[in-house]
Amino acid sequence: MIINTGDGKGKTTAALGTALRAAGHGHRVAIVQFLKGEWNYGEARALARFENVELIRIGSGFTWQAEDPAVPHNLAREAWAIAWDRVTSGRYDLVILDELNYVLGEGYVTVQEVLALLAARPAPVSIIITGRGAPQELVDVADTVTEMHCVKHPFTEGTAAQKGIEY
Ligand code: ATP
Ligand code: MG
Repeated sequence: MIINTGDGKGKTTAALGTALRAAGHGHRVAIVQFLKGEWNYGEARALARFENVELIRIGSGFTWQAEDPAVPHNLAREAWAIAWDRVTSGRYDLVILDELNYVLGEGYVTVQEVLALLAARPAPVSIIITGRGAPQELVDVADTVTEMHCVKHPFTEGTAAQKGIEY
């Protein structure tokens, strides 16, 4: 189990890099993106070329823009049910739970539920969890934890997200 956390850029892209690596070995990969809406992400286009990589995007984009708070909560629960299936099915070698830490922070999914999933997973399944603010309970049980530290990011100088770099 790998956790990519911290306030610097690279958490999701490092997970995608691992997916690329696994895909090259013919491993079966599932990526559940908890936060991403139907934005034009380059990774979604690129990953469509791999028959052994499944990308599931469930989420209203940015939850704080939702008028009804029940909507992001329900979407997160829907994504969590899919995550549970992909981890426990035995059909995947690597499952990426992108932005799960954010979902935990919002209380849509609990740390106890994640620990239960880890206990229920078949041994060979690798899991990558991304997002700022990884809870200590998950850091404690993870094998690898990397904290991306932001030294600088052009966003703070007003540069918008760049195609091919941020999306
Ligand atoms: P990436 O997807 O580029 O690897 P990330 O997963 O580490 O980034 P998130 O917290 O998921 O970062 O944030 C999503 C978006 O915010 C990305 O477009 C990312 O480039 C950008 N971002 C990441 N870190 C920072 C930062 N310190 N300041 C401003 N924007 C950031
Ligand atoms: Mg990310």
